[in-house]
Amino acid sequence: MRQIIIAGNWKMHKTVTEAVSFVQELKQKTADSRVEVVVCPPFTALAPVAEVLKGSRIGLAAQNMHWEKQGAFTGEISPLMLKELGVTYVVLGHSERRQYFGETDESVNKKVKAALAHGLVPIVCVGETLEQREAGTTEQVVATQTKGALEGLAPEQVAGLVIAYEPVWAIGTGKTASDEDAQQVNGYIRRVIADQYGAAAAAAVRIQYGGSVKPGNARGLMSQPDIDGALVGGASLKVEDFAGIIENSA
Ligand code: 13P
Repeated sequence: MRQIIIAGNWKMHKTVTEAVSFVQELKQKTADSRVEVVVCPPFTALAPVAEVLKGSRIGLAAQNMHWEKQGAFTGEISPLMLKELGVTYVVLGHSERRQYFGETDESVNKKVKAALAHGLVPIVCVGETLEQREAGTTEQVVATQTKGALEGLAPEQVAGLVIAYEPVWAIGTGKTASDEDAQQVNGYIRRVIADQYGAAAAAAVRIQYGGSVKPGNARGLMSQPDIDGALVGGASLKVEDFAGIIENSA
């Protein structure tokens, strides 16, 4: 059985003060949640948030990472630095990083391998743009991104990671994919994994949906057979909304 995983990607939001008070409240509100809950604060808030989360079951994710352990890479953060803080997950290949910061399937693949080598669980993001969907190339796009990001991994490694299907046209637009459309692509990604890594890896890998997830649409999405959680942007910034999504996903 795959446990539902609800992750809040805060993107470039929340100062340390705001982040700490958010997780203090979230901890109380989700103390007996049956789903796995993860927050993805900006780098500056990781250490203080980790302190607050000590002893709780809420997981901690970074939003990005470099693939090297250390070196002359101004402005970058390494897997070792994240590990030391108690970070357990790392979001890799988010569409905003691909679109604005030049990330490619190749760089995402390097990061995925580095994360696994350091015992961090990657949350690998894939998803098509509106143009690609309208051109009928959704499956081709997500297959290429999935295979590219996971190239060279062992089936057991694939089994343990998280993939987030986030159609770019649904991110921050209020336009959620329908339950059926999201299920169709998530199911397709699982078949791609089965083809490449075998049935056991495909049955184990958790595939989230992301893009305008809210308390009101979480239940329908999470009841789809191949949707194992959500990567939430805007609605993860308010405790009531995020807790509502968590509650409706159980
Ligand atoms: P929204 O929930 O704001 O659409 O963002 C989704 C997302 O990009 C999460 O990574």
